[in-house]
Amino acid sequence: MSAGDWSVEGKAALVTGASRGIGRAIAVRLAEMGARVACVATRADNCSDTVSACLEHTEGAAAYGVDVSSTDAVAELVKEVQSEFGAIDILVNNAGITQDQLLLRMTEDDFDRVVDVNLKGSWNFLKAAARPLMKSGGRVINISSVVGVTGNAGQANYAASKAGVIGLTRSVAKELAGRGVCVNAVAPGFIETDMTSEISGAAAEQLQASIPLGRVGSASEIADAVAWLAGPGGAYVTGQTIIVDGGLSLGG
Ligand code: NAD
Repeated sequence: MSAGDWSVEGKAALVTGASRGIGRAIAVRLAEMGARVACVATRADNCSDTVSACLEHTEGAAAYGVDVSSTDAVAELVKEVQSEFGAIDILVNNAGITQDQLLLRMTEDDFDRVVDVNLKGSWNFLKAAARPLMKSGGRVINISSVVGVTGNAGQANYAASKAGVIGLTRSVAKELAGRGVCVNAVAPGFIETDMTSEISGAAAEQLQASIPLGRVGSASEIADAVAWLAGPGGAYVTGQTIIVDGGLSLGG
């Protein structure tokens, strides 16, 4: 399929972590591009605002609740979305959490939970949606993080999970390329959302000063990258990680 043959219009997209922040911005952006959007979060009712915003632009949008770390529950949910939407053409694995702690204080639960949600959650959806994606020669965008590339003190669990997402992306890209499925990652830097709202004062100023473009990013700037990968422009791109971080990963 060449770039000219692919349009997001009318496609069925599934976005995890769509209740707020980056996931909400991605869901609404895909709806603006004409996609029908299955909005997934821990609880379906948390996604009702996102669904209303999507329905201003598209005829199909619905809310679903699942814990992305549960393999069986994700398999059931993907079946339900596929039967209600008739397909899954675009998958965005965005749901994610942090449980930050220096290594010496990090508990086994801190490590396991973050890896289960961020890495295994993405694998769960890839595994469950692989067949419908292969059927439509679809697109997958996994949300990693710049710290999966650079590492970050206090985030050994999170950085490992996000580096894992990059390895998962590259491997599945190789497996599914023969079926026309493009699988890429977007690695955001410091983006203003609920997840980063606890970083304030001197820590926030210091972080901001280390960003070459001199400011934090917005959820809509991450949605821009996802929209490009999901759209015609992404037709010949697979296995890549696009870092959207204002230059943060360039180092000082
Ligand atoms: P957020 O905390 O605002 O939203 C997270 C979303 O994930 C919510 O919709 C929540 O319901 C969902 N979620 C969390 N755990 C879940 C679970 N077990 N099952 C189902 N849904 C679950 O976060 P955000 O800042 O919008 O981040 C979105 C993604 O971007 C995450 O993967 C995060 O790691 C990544 N990211 C964010 C930043 C940033 O600066 N905000 C930077 C790099 C990467």
